[in-house]
Amino acid sequence: MSEPVAVLAIDGPGGAGKSTVAALVARLLGMRRLDTGALYRAVTAAVLHEGIAPDDAESCGDVAARVHIALSDGRVSVDGRDVTTEVRGAEVTAAVAMVSAHPRVRRALVEHQRELAARGGWVVEGRDIGTVVFPDAALKVYLTASPSVRARRRAREIGETDLDRVESEIRRRDTADSTRPDSPLRPADDAVTVVTDDLTADEVAAEIATLWRHRWDQSGRTWTTRTEG
Ligand code: C5P
Repeated sequence: MSEPVAVLAIDGPGGAGKSTVAALVARLLGMRRLDTGALYRAVTAAVLHEGIAPDDAESCGDVAARVHIALSDGRVSVDGRDVTTEVRGAEVTAAVAMVSAHPRVRRALVEHQRELAARGGWVVEGRDIGTVVFPDAALKVYLTASPSVRARRRAREIGETDLDRVESEIRRRDTADSTRPDSPLRPADDAVTVVTDDLTADEVAAEIATLWRHRWDQSGRTWTTRTEG
């Protein structure tokens, strides 16, 4: 067994509450937070901006390898262009699962994620964090909720009133994310699954923070003890 890294992985489908919970957990534990969905969305925004088809694997891979993505204070930019609003829009949301399925896109972004967070002290949220990006994460949580609850949350977040439309978009993305050959969405074997239907974000965050304190703090390790190699 490898040494665990001080990464708290939160995976799960869209609308399960990952972003809200990850932000709360990071605050409770004094850790930093990385939203890997924002990286895939940023590459997708760049792909669409350049007029590249989302199913063109090679060109999407080139974009992912070339662009510089900056995430800071809730803002997202690609090569200096602010795409914060664009990445949450309908066009990017409709194309992101296709762009994310290309292995070269994943390779570029996984490398980026490992460089950022490998020294520890990060809450990292996504789809493949516990299974692929940080298989040695000290704690892996799989957050999920029923599609209707997830649709209601997502609709509130984006100000959409047509719940059926949001739910079918969520189901379409679930299928695409969990059936792709490269890094499909699934819980890691050693993940703790939390079903969030009847829980508030604060309750979920408190439960996860407690799990972390048991796993990490009581192990006596610190974030800087891990040496790469
Ligand atoms: O979490 P969010 O809804 O912003 O993610 C957008 C999309 O990015 C997902 O539907 C998925 O296709 C992709 N993604 C991924 N791997 C991750 C994070 C997100 O493939 N680690």
